[in-house]
Amino acid sequence: MISSKIAIVEGDITQQQVDAIVNAANNSLLGGGGVDGAIHRAAGLGLWEECRRLGGCQTGDAKITRGYNLLADWVIHTVGPIWRGGNFGEDGLLASCYRRCLEIATQYEIISIAFPAISTGAYGFPPQRAAKIAVKTVKEFLENNSSVEQVILVCFTHGDYNYYVSALKEILTMDN
Ligand code: ADP
Repeated sequence: MISSKIAIVEGDITQQQVDAIVNAANNSLLGGGGVDGAIHRAAGLGLWEECRRLGGCQTGDAKITRGYNLLADWVIHTVGPIWRGGNFGEDGLLASCYRRCLEIATQYEIISIAFPAISTGAYGFPPQRAAKIAVKTVKEFLENNSSVEQVILVCFTHGDYNYYVSALKEILTMDN
């Protein structure tokens, strides 16, 4: 059952006890506000130093580092699209972020991974639309190929939590 592999929680991603957490980074990978700032603060300077050696990351792609002082062993940094109204490939790029993170997780034999709501903060992606894309992309990935046994979708607000729960329900009923 795919649904048993996907959990939705309200909380702080830096506190998740998983093999890998995903960072919603920017193209430089050199830190920013929001979840990126929280992850760098919790992980310590070692994370920033490793990120500096990565040479940035393209929008829709992802790169992995160690987790340093985090509970998680790994951080997978992905760069979500900046919302520009919806006609600039934003949906596809957001789906690509989730897919690339899960591909890398599979390569590293990561069992459990936590995602934030990529692009829905400073990057302005509408949260309900983002929640549907997140749930659909994760579900499709887990159906096809993966060592990943547990995906935790971490919501920082109660509003986001509700969007995710509805999106998951909708997608699971579409299958029945
Ligand atoms: P982006 O630039 O991709 O929009 P942000 O960090 O601004 O990234 O926001 C992405 C999402 O992460 C938002 O939903 C925001 O509320 C959420 N967020 C911020 N801090 C945390 C945290 N510590 N844990 C989990 N989610 C967080």
